[in-house]
Amino acid sequence: MFEKILIANRGEIALRIIRACREMGIQSVAVHSQADADSMHVSLADEAYCVGPARSVDSYLKIDQIIAAAEVGNVDAIHPGYGFLAENAHFNEVCRSSGFEFIGPSPQAMEKLGDKNTARSMAVASNVPVVPGSDGLIEDDKLALDIAREIGFPVLIKATAGGGGKGMRVAENESKLAAALNQARTEAQAAFGNGGVYLERYVGNPRHIEVQVIADQHGNVCHLFERDCSVQRRHQKLIEEAPSPNLPDDRRKEICDAAVRMIRGADYSNAGTVEFIVDEQDNFYFIEVNARIQVEHPVSEMITGVDLIKAQIRVAAGEKLPFCQDDIKCVGHAIECRINAENPDKNFQPNPGKITRLFTPGGLGVRFDSHVYGGYVVPPHYDSMIGKLIVHRPTRAEAIATMRRALEEMQVEGISTTAPFHDRVLQHPEFIEGRHDTKFVERAFVK
Ligand code: ADP
Repeated sequence: MFEKILIANRGEIALRIIRACREMGIQSVAVHSQADADSMHVSLADEAYCVGPARSVDSYLKIDQIIAAAEVGNVDAIHPGYGFLAENAHFNEVCRSSGFEFIGPSPQAMEKLGDKNTARSMAVASNVPVVPGSDGLIEDDKLALDIAREIGFPVLIKATAGGGGKGMRVAENESKLAAALNQARTEAQAAFGNGGVYLERYVGNPRHIEVQVIADQHGNVCHLFERDCSVQRRHQKLIEEAPSPNLPDDRRKEICDAAVRMIRGADYSNAGTVEFIVDEQDNFYFIEVNARIQVEHPVSEMITGVDLIKAQIRVAAGEKLPFCQDDIKCVGHAIECRINAENPDKNFQPNPGKITRLFTPGGLGVRFDSHVYGGYVVPPHYDSMIGKLIVHRPTRAEAIATMRRALEEMQVEGISTTAPFHDRVLQHPEFIEGRHDTKFVERAFVK
């Protein structure tokens, strides 16, 4: 087992990894920007190194600085968390060639899955359903029109290098196709340096359902059931839950089995998530693989009892998974609300600043994964999430009631947060009945 791990991240996920290390008797090394010198991850880790100025491109994304910290700290492995360099195959490769184990999949698997069009072909090869669409990248507008007519409008143009909803455009009809293709290519080229796009049928009012998978380096692959992440605003997830409401059991089994086939076919080890959209008839379609731990992993931990970060560390060190699929049971219902420093009454405008007073909720079934404390100044340089409120109760109705109570109990003064917005969602009949889809927030709350 590793003796020392560097965490190439900040915020709550850095704390989450430090906590796992501590419980496993592994030393932890934090890296931080100048703006994060007073952060909790810096004080909780066994050692910490400053890797540059506030801007992420000058610090958390600086591969040479992070490798230098790993060398000075004399670590065995590097955990990338999520965001920043987590899905950067080059960073993964550099870690390994510098003598540090990368806690994640191989650079080869990461690279292939990071290209959405390649991932789509791999899904087809593993007999995993994909949204009807083009067979490969679309270079010719005339060919695009033929394919679009065949799959039927509206169509969705997607960037093969895409992420965070960038380079994605809907074309409602034939007359809009050429312009939409152009916009998607230009946006993708600017954002990712790769203008390659492909076409998919635009699925109306889908649910977003994703399957958590963990695989070791000995060919064992298990799923930890699925999560519903349909409460989204502008493709950003706000609330996640497990298991997903209103998914028939036979469909749940099919979707989880498909995710395992996908991961097996990609020769993938470590934690990963296979994302699907599910239409109104419960047909599911692969959209992408996230080759990292995700923000919403705690809901899967709560229903299965598996510590995903420890599992990641163990399989990266070459250990076999300590369980098989039949050992994994889904118990109760878990919900996570992302608490962001944003003002929901002002179009979710980021609201960094000093937290003058903080009271965090507790009680039976409540978990709060957060790096903030009273007096902490939320810096403006990074994403606005200040914590994740997670509840786990025997039923979905009880989980909703506990979450509402916990949200009410939480007191964050000095900045606005998304907590009041979550309470409104949890009271909405569509959410309570589990009928919501990815368009729900826009439909129900955006005027
Ligand atoms: P990104 O990596 O840029 O976030 P994804 O492929 O994960 O892109 O898609 C983001 C969101 O876009 C999904 O959660 C879903 O809501 C929507 N989406 C993706 N593909 C389709 C599709 N074919 N039809 C309708 N909506 C889609």
